[in-house]
Amino acid sequence: MIPIIGAGLAGLSAARNLRGDYVILEKDARVGGLCKSVDIDGFIFDYAPHILFTRDDHIRALFEDQLEGNLLKHTREAFIYLQGAFARYPFEVNLHNLPEDVIRECIDGVTNRKPIEATNFEEWIYSTFGDGIAKHYMIPYNRKIWKYDLSKMNIDWISGRVPSPSVEEMKEGAARSIRRDFGPNAEFMYPMHGGIGALANQLSKGLNISTGSKVVEIKPSGDDVIVKYTKDGENREISAEKVLSSIPLPDMVDMLHDPPEEVVKAAGALVYNSLVCVNIGVRTPEIIDKHWLYFPEDELIFNRISFPMNFSEHTTPGDASSILVEVTHREDSVNLESIRDRVLEDLIKTGILEEEDEIMVCDTSAFKYAYVIYDLDHKKNVGIIHDYLESVNVVPIGRFGEWEYFNMDKALLSGRNAASRISGIS
Ligand SMILES: Cc1cc2nc3c(=O)[nH]c(=O)nc-3n(C[C@H](O)[C@H](O)[C@H](O)COP(=O)(O)OP(=O)(O)OC[C@H]3O[C@@H](n4cnc5c(N)ncnc54)[C@H](O)[C@@H]3O)c2cc1C
Repeated sequence: MIPIIGAGLAGLSAARNLRGDYVILEKDARVGGLCKSVDIDGFIFDYAPHILFTRDDHIRALFEDQLEGNLLKHTREAFIYLQGAFARYPFEVNLHNLPEDVIRECIDGVTNRKPIEATNFEEWIYSTFGDGIAKHYMIPYNRKIWKYDLSKMNIDWISGRVPSPSVEEMKEGAARSIRRDFGPNAEFMYPMHGGIGALANQLSKGLNISTGSKVVEIKPSGDDVIVKYTKDGENREISAEKVLSSIPLPDMVDMLHDPPEEVVKAAGALVYNSLVCVNIGVRTPEIIDKHWLYFPEDELIFNRISFPMNFSEHTTPGDASSILVEVTHREDSVNLESIRDRVLEDLIKTGILEEEDEIMVCDTSAFKYAYVIYDLDHKKNVGIIHDYLESVNVVPIGRFGEWEYFNMDKALLSGRNAASRISGIS
């Protein structure tokens, strides 16, 4: 019996591809991990906002197959809110709606940029986009989402994530709307019913899953590994030749019985940020026609806001509107009420909400692990932990097991690939 820890997408995908006996141990009462959705008085909110997109044909086919008859296709309507105006995303090819002086600064910056061999994220931003785009958008937005010194982040993760258009395209986008669809999510899909959680619910059908099972210790024992967990107030354990785990690496190392000093040190040096989401239901219909917005300015607390009602009309009761607000942070604990109050204030400042709008639902949720931060030692520290885990037959999977900036497709592939390796399928 192979234990798979976590019924997020990586764990579900591993189970679907493993030959032989397995059980998924999931601490939560529900499957899906980060890809769950909640129904609050008829408003469907994803735990954190999710859309479906991928460049992998196998995963696209999986999405289409699992969500057959329940899949909507969209063309992205995403914008950056700056100085009271909206610039279409990606900012750097859609400058034309911005104030004249901002456009000039951005174009001068791009024209006079000094292309260098960047050694960190901050240098990469300046050398790719020039001073103006860096100053108005790339630097403030990235500082706001990562909450980390950009000169201490590497550039291993950028390829395919941050659109890098040509200088000519940037200049063209300053003159007029070119409506080029840059980036991997220019077209995306979303479930018609049930929010993003519909995918995990579907994938979990027929799998052997033990929910409410919290793993508390991993103990290597000879050629085996013992997984200790609690369920229904009882202590239980499974001894296995291998265990697959999507537990975040820092928590995994905490659970290891007697790990080497250097592994503990490497785990303590891993960097990540956390997230608070504020889910708001509003009586007023159609408060906006966009999918999501980015907010680089410091005066506003949120970094991104999505509008689930525009992903699927079935996410609101009747003609209401819904807003999913994201605020990243790197604190050990935050005051959810004060974040919620500040979010409501700032929504009014931007005009997204009006004073007189009736709030039907306002709920907060908090996630300790949101984004892995690629600090300059990311590769070294992850390598030390992974090498040790491999030596004790623990196979890390998923976004926080592999400790990579994985989207849903990569999380699914991570589980599938690990299961295939263990099952001897290449
Ligand atoms: C804000 C945000 C927005 C995102 N948006 C998108 C998007 O639009 N599109 C996209 O493709 N991807 C998106 N992603 C990425 C996507 O959420 C992840 O790639 C994916 O959900 C990771 O799945 P996973 O199984 O690796 O991890 P998780 O979803 O974290 O699953 C891990 C599971 O392990 C369980 N677990 C942890 N510890 C224990 C324990 N001790 N015992 C038992 N069980 C345990 C957890 O409860 C959880 O169910 C987003 C991520 C974030 C944070």
